[in-house]
Parts: sequence; structure tokens; C-alpha cells
Amino acid sequence: MAQRIETAEGTVRLVSLGDAFPGRLERLPVVLRILLENVARRDPGRLAAFTEALDRWLDEGTSEAEVDFHPSRVLMHDTTCVPALVDIAAMRDAIAEAGGDPAALTPVLPVDVSVDHSVAVDWYGRPGAREHNMRREMERNGERYRLMKWATAALPGVRVHPPGTGIMHTLNLEQLATVIGIEERDGERWAAPDTLIGTDSHTPMINGIGVLAWGVGGLEAESVLFGMPVTLRIPDVVGVRLTGRLRPGVLSTDLALEVTHLLRRHAIAGEFVEFFGAGVSSLTGGDRAVVANMAPEYGASTGFFPIDAQTVAYLRETGRPAGHCALVEAAAKALGLWFDPAAAPRYSRVLDLDLAGVEPLLAGPRRPQDKLPLAAAAAALEAASGRPFTREAQGIPDGAIAIAAITSCTNTSDRRLLAAAGLVARKARRLGLRPPAWVKTSLAPGSPSAERFLSASGLLADLEALGFGIVGHGCTTCIGNSGPLHPDMAGAIAGGTVASALLSGNRNFPGRVHPSLQFGFLASPPLVVALSLAGRIVPDPMKAEIARDADGAPVRLRDLLACDAEIDAVVREFSNPRDIPEAFAQAAIYEPWQRLEAPRAARFPWAEASTYIRRPPFAAAGPANRPGAYTAHPLLVLGDDMTTDHISPAGQIAAGSVAGRHLVERGDPPTDLNVYAARRGNWQAMVRGLFDNPTAANALVGGRPASRTVHAPTLEEGPLWDIAERYRAEGRAVVLVAGERYGTGSSRDWAAKGVALLGVRAVIARSFERIHRTNLVGMGVLPIVIDRDTPFLPEATDRIEIDATRVEPRGPISVSLLRPDGSRRPVAGRAAVETDREVAILQAGGMIPAILAATLQG
Ligand code: SF4
Repeated sequence: MAQRIETAEGTVRLVSLGDAFPGRLERLPVVLRILLENVARRDPGRLAAFTEALDRWLDEGTSEAEVDFHPSRVLMHDTTCVPALVDIAAMRDAIAEAGGDPAALTPVLPVDVSVDHSVAVDWYGRPGAREHNMRREMERNGERYRLMKWATAALPGVRVHPPGTGIMHTLNLEQLATVIGIEERDGERWAAPDTLIGTDSHTPMINGIGVLAWGVGGLEAESVLFGMPVTLRIPDVVGVRLTGRLRPGVLSTDLALEVTHLLRRHAIAGEFVEFFGAGVSSLTGGDRAVVANMAPEYGASTGFFPIDAQTVAYLRETGRPAGHCALVEAAAKALGLWFDPAAAPRYSRVLDLDLAGVEPLLAGPRRPQDKLPLAAAAAALEAASGRPFTREAQGIPDGAIAIAAITSCTNTSDRRLLAAAGLVARKARRLGLRPPAWVKTSLAPGSPSAERFLSASGLLADLEALGFGIVGHGCTTCIGNSGPLHPDMAGAIAGGTVASALLSGNRNFPGRVHPSLQFGFLASPPLVVALSLAGRIVPDPMKAEIARDADGAPVRLRDLLACDAEIDAVVREFSNPRDIPEAFAQAAIYEPWQRLEAPRAARFPWAEASTYIRRPPFAAAGPANRPGAYTAHPLLVLGDDMTTDHISPAGQIAAGSVAGRHLVERGDPPTDLNVYAARRGNWQAMVRGLFDNPTAANALVGGRPASRTVHAPTLEEGPLWDIAERYRAEGRAVVLVAGERYGTGSSRDWAAKGVALLGVRAVIARSFERIHRTNLVGMGVLPIVIDRDTPFLPEATDRIEIDATRVEPRGPISVSLLRPDGSRRPVAGRAAVETDREVAILQAGGMIPAILAATLQG
């Protein structure tokens, strides 16, 4: 079932998918062909069963059968890798304490780690901002970074890319992805599709160039690192048929927001999405990556674009060797993975999108799926604020823009988007315009090569003149590391002024970008620059003036936006494929990183005084949560759309918060407690910071913040952590109750680890987001789904009876509400557990006990 092809790089062998699945291969979505190749190459003993299951999938468009997927590599970033490394270090200790060899726990796959999530925008709009922000990053995060350097020495296959080398998904797109890789086996060279999992929900960005990948929780990644496959139900695949082509002036950001709106409207919930149809060919690799990036925002596991000539062109433009580009084309064709615009494979369901119907737009002010015509944004913000815009404080009006940021992996890797932003800046600069001082402006490209491109074209000087100088090459504002607001803006917000963020990111959940900002708009980079000039969200910016030029003449949006020809001319003239590998290599020699000393030993030497890295209690083979039958108190009763940002915030730690007080008591300076994202190696800080988000409401305390709750036996109210500790000391079980889409957002495993550390045995919700659901299972917490229409709103004095002695994938779980008057109301519950492997993980008490048991057994 193998074939050979001749390429510029010599003879290579390939799986013959036509032989593996004769006659029906073309009917399969490409994502399933890649799974088929994976099984045929990695697990041939299961091929017959899998092809039978695929036959049934083709008949029915869905399947209950499971498949074991063996990705070729793992991608992590500093905030998801640190907790994983802490777990690994603690597991090595547990193995040594049990008499085993700690070094036996070693990754079996290559792991690339980016250091991108921690840089903050301390300085902006001034010379030296990037250098200052990077220096502060090293000062704040030295301890965590030492752990990561320990890992590069102690864990073979772990490669850490230092600060300044870019955002993980851009790094993956521009540097790491091979699309088709070569592996040596039995003395022969085999060509195989590049596949990966990443501990970040935006991992599917790489789907834009035909690499199958998706985001998983840190716990699932840990299991894959140690040789377990990713077990999944053969996915439902939604085909999105693209027709037409984008009209002039419409950018890939607009398309991504349109797709997000469309797919959320069709209630995509964890399915694989694959784009097909003639419209696909009109999109560049860069365009596709932007659309693929937002897969989590449109509810999908993937946003896959098959390999074609645009993919190969993208590889060439990003400096991949010509021989490798030729190999990708030849191998993709031989494997049957080459895109055919006329083909219409079988999909579970099909949605249609005419590219010609997409318009420039914004999304917000609270969710990425809420697209808005430009003219409607101001009214939407006013409506969301709940009052008319009449106030002005410190000269700052209601509706002001507090932050204007060109940020995020989504919209800073494509040269066209950067050129378009730079050209707006050039026009604005010539007109003598600049955003008002209260707008915090920044540019944080995902790739260090962006600076070369923008400098060569002269556009960097234009952006800098408007305050959009480079502040770093990391997540910055997108992850909430936006740094302090302008003091006047901070004062105005404290006085009640309604303000919002305007960013080229992918998420605008309340409080994500900055704790004082409850509103945010997502937009393309050129719109971020242009609209920031007004300093506020302007009604109908295409028609209304957004600023006055040096002569007092009104300037409208259309006066500033560049046309496609101008953008394309800049891209053509100033893109240099060599810039990408050269800029990356230069950034990788980051002196402060090279100088950082790290321990070299199989076991990590924990420091008792550390407030960043602490041995977690759950990384042990001892007792853990397991399903079973019990009666529990509700610890929290939450509403719909409880995101991972609500559950385990990433942003600034306030000195007065429970977590902040804990850190200050241990000697950390109250003025510089860093962000939660940087504290994920310290379980004691993280567990105290759970639900430290003022917009997470707990019905048990009358809808006030969920950082507080009620101890039912005494009806006393207190901080969440304290109440959970009281329940634990009393030996009482607790569960968490939530509404729709619990755990929407990122792959943040702390949202599950923290809940498990609170002692929560089950989360009962109307629906779960995929990655978070997996993380709960990974921590031994049973996710239970109850029907949307069943009334279920426990009060503090109610108890919940659960019988989960028998758990099966999607099987029934008995749940009853026990009232203080002795009444008992059963509700129909179902285990939100997808596979037998997940059941086994729950029974083991979670992923970590499962890995430990496997390692100790040899
Ligand atoms: S979405 Fe934002 S936080 Fe996540 S990887 Fe991209 S830039 Fe970083």
C-alpha cells in the first residue's frame, strides 16, 4: 500500500491512499484523507476497521467510531508550556519517590515552544519601546524562563524559541511547518503530511496552508508528548463552499469576521470545517491563514484549506527552499491531497459563502461573532453601555477608544494587512493627523521579519509617526498584556466614561484586553489605524469626518484607506523571502536569553521561596477525584458564555485580590504582581485567582462576582477559595453549575486545573466548549450536560445528587436536585465524554495519574 515518487530531493515513498480506500477516496473530505494516511502509516493494523468506519461515514455523514491520531509534532507557548513543564517536573519527582527513574518520563515527539505570551506594552509610542518592554519581560519572568531552559537540557526534543522570535502561530506558518515532511523509516525516506497539535486554541491557523492541526488542552498535550495518541470520534466535517472573489477594498480580516458570524449562526460546535469550491483558489496562503486562525471563534476544531498552488507560492514567499516546495506539490498530488476547485466531496453538511458579498466590517462590542457594518458600531456600543453617550470627563467623550492595537497572530502575519495599515498611516501623516493622546497605540507583529518589510517600504516611519511603533513581537494586547492605560483615560473610565478597545485581534470578551475595558471592537489593521485618529468610535466613518487635517479640512475614512493596487505594489516591491529566516535567526540570538542560567539535572530543583514555580499537588499518583455516587453542594451557579477568561483570567493581578494578597504576603511587590498568565507555574496563586473577573456572576450571591460564594451549611459568604477549602475540610463534595457554552475561549488548562483544585467533582452545564471539556476530563472532573429546556437553577441551600458510578461516552448520568423541604427533582443528565479513552482517564482520576501509572509500569 505504498508508492514511490521521484522529486528534486530524490526518491521518496508515500502511502497509497487510493489503495487504502479504493474507489471512494475523492468523496472523502481532505481532512479525513489525512486521518486515513495517518492510520495507514502509523497504525496499519487498524486500517481495515477504520476504512469500514469511513465507508459508513460517507453513507451517513457522521460516525460514532473512534480513530487514534498520531501527530508528528507539538506546539506550545510559554504560558501553556510552563504548567506542563511544572507537571512534568512534579511527575518526575513522583516517579523518583516511587523508586523509578525520573528520566524515564521523556517526550517522544518534537516540541516547539514559543516565548510570546508574556511581553507587555509598558512603553508605547516612543523610541526604544520594544527594547524596554523586552527588558521588563525578562526581569519579570526570569524564573519561568529558567524552567524552560531547564527543559531544553533535561527533556530531549524540546526546543524553546526565545522572546522576540514571534507569535507561535506565525512562527509555525513561516518557519516550522513543512506541509509535507520527510521521515526516515527502515532505511527509506517517507514523505508524509505534516500534522500537529498545539496547546493554544488558534493552532488551526496552520490549516491555512494545508497542515492538519488543532488546539488541545495542556493535559492532552502532555499525554501526546509521552506517546499516547489523540483519540477522537471520526469528526463531522462541515464544508464551507466559497464562490466568487473578494471585492476591492475587502481584506482577509473582513472575511474572517464574516466567516465567524456565519458559522456561529449555524451553531458550529467542535466540528471540523473544510473550505472548498472555486472561491478557495482566489485566496492567498496569507488570506487563508487569517480565516483558519479564527476557527475557535467560529466554534470549529479546524478551518482547513487543502494544499494547492497558492500554498506552494506561500512556502516560496516565506523562504522555503525550492526543492522542498517541489516536493510538497509532487507528494500532495501523489497522495490525493491536492485541491481540486471543481470537486465537491461528501460533507456532514454544507454552508455557502459568496466572497463577493463580504464587506469591510467590525465585530463587537463584546463577542467576535457579532459583526457590524462600520456605520453601526457607535450605536452598538451605546446600546451595550445601557445609557446615552452624553458624558465627557478629562476632555474624553463617551465612546472613546482607550486602546488601538495592531496585535495578534490573526492579523499581523499577512504582508497585505501590514502594508494596508502602513499606507493609512502614510496618508494620515501627510495630512498632519495623529490619534488623541488618550488612545494607547501599539504595533506588535507576529514575526520579527515584519520590521524588515515595513522598514524597507518606509511604512514603519509612518506608523511610528502616528504612535504605532513596534512594542514587541508577541501577544501583548491580544492576551491582555496591554499595560497601563493613558492616565487621563484611566481617570475618565474611573469616572464613568464608556470606552472601548479597537484591535486587530480575534477576541473582545469583556475584560480580556484590559480589566477596565468591558467593550472591544475587532477590525483589520488599516481600520485600527484610521479609526484611532478620531479617538472614539465614530458613527458612519465612511461618510462622517473622523478628523481634520492641518488646514482644518474634514478627513473621512475613504480619504485614508489604500486601494488594492497600492497595497499590492508595496507587497510586490518590498517582500523578500530571505527576510523571514534571516530575521528569525537574528532574533533567536537574544543576548539576555542566552545569558540566563538554568539548572541541568533530570529533576528540577524547586525553590521554596518561589512565587512563580511551585510543585503542584495534583501531579502525583495519590488519591484524585473520580466519578462515583455522591451528594454535593453547588459551589458556584453561573450563567451562559462563561469563558476561560472568566474562569481563569490571564490579565493583571490586582494587589487587593485574593491572589494578589497571597503573593504580597510572600514578599512580591504590590505594584508589580505581573499577570495571571505568568503565574501558571504557581498553583497557589492560580487557584486563588479563579473567577477573578468582575463580569463572571454567581447566582448564589445574587449575581455578584463569582470570586465570592456561599458556604451552604452556615450561609456565610466569603472568597471562593476560602469557601472551597471549608468544604474540603468538612469532607463535603461540591459541583459547579453553568449555562450554555461553558469554557468558550482558549485552551487554558488552568481553567480546569483550578476547578479541580477547588474540589469540584462535576461541572453541570447546558453545553461545553470542546477544548475545555477535554481539559475537565483530563483533570478527572466529570462534565455533565443537561437539557437546554430543563429548569435547573440550584440555590445555596439545595444539594445535588449525582450517580456517575457508570460512565459511558455520551451515556446517561443521574442528576437530582434536593430541596431543603425534602423534595427531590430528577433531571436528565448526560456525560459530556466522547471516547472510551476519556472514560478510562476519568476512572484513573485524570490524565496525570494515567501518565504516571503508565510510566511506572514501564
Ligand atoms: S490569539 Fe492572541 S494570545 Fe493567542 S496566540 Fe494569538 S496573539 Fe497570542
